[in-house]
Amino acid sequence: MEHPLARAVAPQLEWRDSCPSTNTDLVSRAADLPDLAVLATADQTAGRGRLDRVWSAPAGASLAVSIFVRLDPAALDPQQLGWLPLLAGVAMTRAVRELGVAGAGLKWPNDVLVHGRKLSGVLTELTPHGVVIGAGLNLTLREDQLPVPTATSLALEGVATTAAASDHDNAADAALTDRALAAFLRETFDLVAQWRAAPTAAALRSLVEPVLATLGHAVRVDQPGLAPLRGVAEALDDDGRLLVRAAEPSSSLVAVSAGDVTHLRYE
Ligand code: ATP
Repeated sequence: MEHPLARAVAPQLEWRDSCPSTNTDLVSRAADLPDLAVLATADQTAGRGRLDRVWSAPAGASLAVSIFVRLDPAALDPQQLGWLPLLAGVAMTRAVRELGVAGAGLKWPNDVLVHGRKLSGVLTELTPHGVVIGAGLNLTLREDQLPVPTATSLALEGVATTAAASDHDNAADAALTDRALAAFLRETFDLVAQWRAAPTAAALRSLVEPVLATLGHAVRVDQPGLAPLRGVAEALDDDGRLLVRAAEPSSSLVAVSAGDVTHLRYE
């Protein structure tokens, strides 16, 4: 059976040999999808990041996966909805730690970094029928295959891959793909179930904070139309916004709900 570990977690898994964008696909079909529908591929040809930035990786060397969480956005407390992208990032951070990347941490809101380099990007999109959680995870890329110098992969972080995958440019490591997919699906389903039980902000915070590498970091936050904010990320508020102690002018605490966060120093 193809992807036996992942199918044990998600029997409804739809695997494609190639797909332009797993998120775009699920968003376009959201009206008809069952809850927790999953679409995945190791060859995503037109991956997107936030603000329609490009997510790219050589065929076979990375995983793209999207999960549909059926809900009625109008019936949900916006405060609760705001935590879902963060939990998706928590799920991926936990998954790659299980695969052996102990140094992986979450950069707010939902990039997974290892020593400042991006191992995975998560993109959540809201539709009238629910939320699509999408993730790109670099599996076997070598240094010379990285799309940007700030990227890394499971293989580069020391996770064992099969010889076939490391010897050839586009050879997929089916076993690693399955393990990574299964781990991410298991963690996401678990966290979505906890989130659906409408936990308190304190309970949600306790799920995110243990993996949130941004806390305590000096950061720069770039927000459209605003001057860059520099300061230290101190905490999450009840909406999951990042509270940054601004360096200037008055050491005020600024709540950031969207924007590009850059870690200015690394552990
Ligand atoms: P940043 O990493 O600058 O915080 P972001 O969180 O906005 O960006 P996304 O928009 O989610 O990131 O992802 C797109 C960005 O990720 C691209 O602009 C590119 O810099 C980077 N990128 C693209 N493909 C990969 C990849 N396979 N691995 C790691 N990073 C990638």
